[in-house]
Amino acid sequence: METKNIKAFGTEAAEAPLKTLDIKRRAVQAHDVEIEILYCGICHSDLHTARNEWHGTIYPIVPGHEIVGRVTKVGDHVKGFKVGDLAGVGCLVDSCRECEHCKNDLEQFCDEGSTQTFNSPDRHLGGQTYGGYSQSITVDESFVLHISDKLDLAAVAPLLCAGITTYSPLKHWKVGPGQKVGIVGIGGLGHMGIKIAKAMGAHVVVFTTSLSKTDDAKRLGADEVVLSTDEAQMAAYARSLNFILDCVSAEHNIDAYLNLLKVDGTLTLVGAPMDPLPVTSFSLILGRRSFSGSLIGGIAETQEMLDFCAEHNITSDVEVIGVNDVNDAYERLLKGDVKYRFVIDMASLK
Ligand code: NAP
Ligand code: ZN
Ligand code: ZN
Repeated sequence: METKNIKAFGTEAAEAPLKTLDIKRRAVQAHDVEIEILYCGICHSDLHTARNEWHGTIYPIVPGHEIVGRVTKVGDHVKGFKVGDLAGVGCLVDSCRECEHCKNDLEQFCDEGSTQTFNSPDRHLGGQTYGGYSQSITVDESFVLHISDKLDLAAVAPLLCAGITTYSPLKHWKVGPGQKVGIVGIGGLGHMGIKIAKAMGAHVVVFTTSLSKTDDAKRLGADEVVLSTDEAQMAAYARSLNFILDCVSAEHNIDAYLNLLKVDGTLTLVGAPMDPLPVTSFSLILGRRSFSGSLIGGIAETQEMLDFCAEHNITSDVEVIGVNDVNDAYERLLKGDVKYRFVIDMASLK
């Protein structure tokens, strides 16, 4: 298959810093859209994968699945996009399209395994897929999203992962008016979770380990903010919440949060630390509580989320950086030192 060489930013080993790499993209096929990447958000999953924390990384790796750009070419059969349109790509670039989950707009749970934007077997070129820390990407139009031109593009990019990953479970568990919802961890995912849960009409209680983020949490939409390291503050919320969305990237105490749920409440994990998280039986059985997980969202729901955010004027709070700042940004991400999403201005990749 014909290919095109482009510049990307990635790494060849878990311990090595990211640097400029040359990669290949396939030539545009009949159903493909080629996108010049303008902005790409930095998700904590990029860091987990670049450093092989989930043990499945094949090097070289080019992370990035919060992609916003402009269409530069379309294949002959493309119907929904034309050259010059804004376009987005999130965590998925393909799936089998035949299994029950693909047919039900849940491509993230494809029985064959969905093709993720990076570090997935590439169905066209062989090898692995390369993500959005790059000049361009070529994606089948079925996996390309429409982006509103009304919002700041850099601030829209994080919606493609952090937005959908929080929107999908909040919607699935029917969060809305009259409900008290907890959001745990104010990082990229958590800060979007606060904004979206508030827009859905819930009363939002935010749990943070960072005293310095409490004022911000209110500005983002929290009705109440709890310093989770303060046992007395935590005890005051026992048996009070209908739903909790846990967006924490590292090991932490799940029981402490399960005990804040009402009877029949649900705690849903979207944060993905590698090591097991112990749960005490009584934290679940004493309140008929549920402990569950959620993975990004399907393509149709991602478009629904983008439209919901455009309608409610919701974007991410971002710190725009150049590509050469990515290694520093990873260190700051590990310290929880970002308000609240790093986004790379891809024009800086030469
Ligand atoms: P992030 O921006 O680094 O935010 C993580 C937040 O967790 C931090 O800001 C911090 O919030 C809190 N935190 C960090 N270390 C902690 C610790 N040791 N104890 C307690 N709290 C701690 O990360 P992100 O990009 O939002 O991603 C969060 C997690 O979700 C990652 O594991 C990522 O891989 C995963 N993820 C999952 C999906 C999915 O589909 N399920 C999709 C995307 C990402 P405070 O300072 O407020 O405490
Ligand atoms: Zn992500
Ligand atoms: Zn499938």
